[in-house]
Amino acid sequence: MMRTAVLFLLAACAGAEALPVRGLHLGAPKPAEMPLALRFIRDALPKEGVNTLVMEFNYRYQFAKHPEVADADALSPEQVRQLAEACRAAGVELVPLINLLGHQSWARTTFGLLRAHPEFDETPGLYPDNANIYCRSYCPLHPELHAMVFDLIDELLDATGAKTFHAGMDEVFLLGEDVCPRCKGKDKAELFAGEVKAVRDHLAGRGVKLWLWADRLIDGEVTGIGKWEASQNQTAPALGLIPRDVVLCDWHYEAAHPTAQRFALEGFQVMSSPWRKPSVALGQLAQMRDARAHSTAVVRDRMLGMLQTTWVGFGPFARAYFSEDKTPQAQVAEAVLCFRELFREMRTMNQ
Ligand SMILES: [Zn+2]
Repeated sequence: MMRTAVLFLLAACAGAEALPVRGLHLGAPKPAEMPLALRFIRDALPKEGVNTLVMEFNYRYQFAKHPEVADADALSPEQVRQLAEACRAAGVELVPLINLLGHQSWARTTFGLLRAHPEFDETPGLYPDNANIYCRSYCPLHPELHAMVFDLIDELLDATGAKTFHAGMDEVFLLGEDVCPRCKGKDKAELFAGEVKAVRDHLAGRGVKLWLWADRLIDGEVTGIGKWEASQNQTAPALGLIPRDVVLCDWHYEAAHPTAQRFALEGFQVMSSPWRKPSVALGQLAQMRDARAHSTAVVRDRMLGMLQTTWVGFGPFARAYFSEDKTPQAQVAEAVLCFRELFREMRTMNQ
């Protein structure tokens, strides 16, 4: 009995250690926001206890090899070097993100890759002005696609010196479409897993780890989670097809679904990602701590921590955080509040 109690106490203490990943996800700043961004990285991140900054560049970078892909407000190599240097000085790991496969457009705007290279579109010529779709996808089987995408990834890795790359790949709805002669009729889980593996293998060749949003790997019907935070387009079996060194970012914004535990038990490193609701963020954190406290050492070590998302742009988030915008939009204020409450709670275990 005594021994059991002691073991439980030891396990509880192990779960109470500072989490390995205490992360924040933000869009890359616009060029005019550089001074604000550098100040936020240097002052706010160490103060809050953030040790990982996932920065979503997508095509907002002045790519040297493929300048035609750059979108408006693209950062220069020197500006990205400054962001990376500020992160290093603040003790923060910078993880660059380009959202691959899906999310190649937003509303009527098609992003740089498919704007400059419509031949890579999974549904070329369909959905003018992106009407009646969520986002465009590129075709993962186009024979010339990966050479270009890997060039883009490599340039961002070179500019940042990063050892981890986030490839997004959330909410992919257009996949294996009938209008694509290469993908038509193919198994969607195999298509998704094949793209994950291609990116993972390229990164592994340069010693870089791959992070991914996890929604396409959860069965939305079996879990009842639905088609956004989970998959109802036949991609979920990809979990059994992708290498287990891919790290999963398990985002849920409305409820703290116990999905991270499942990924860890299946052999994947995982973190939980909230957005605007402190109750969801704190619920995810409680589960992360609880699972770490009651798991074997190998499973505990896969439960990496938390990655707070924001989805409001770097400038609006940082200005609201510093109270320099006295009347932020509601979703900006909510994201800042959730960030503050989550990190306040995480700091209680960081000393
Ligand atoms: Zn295709």
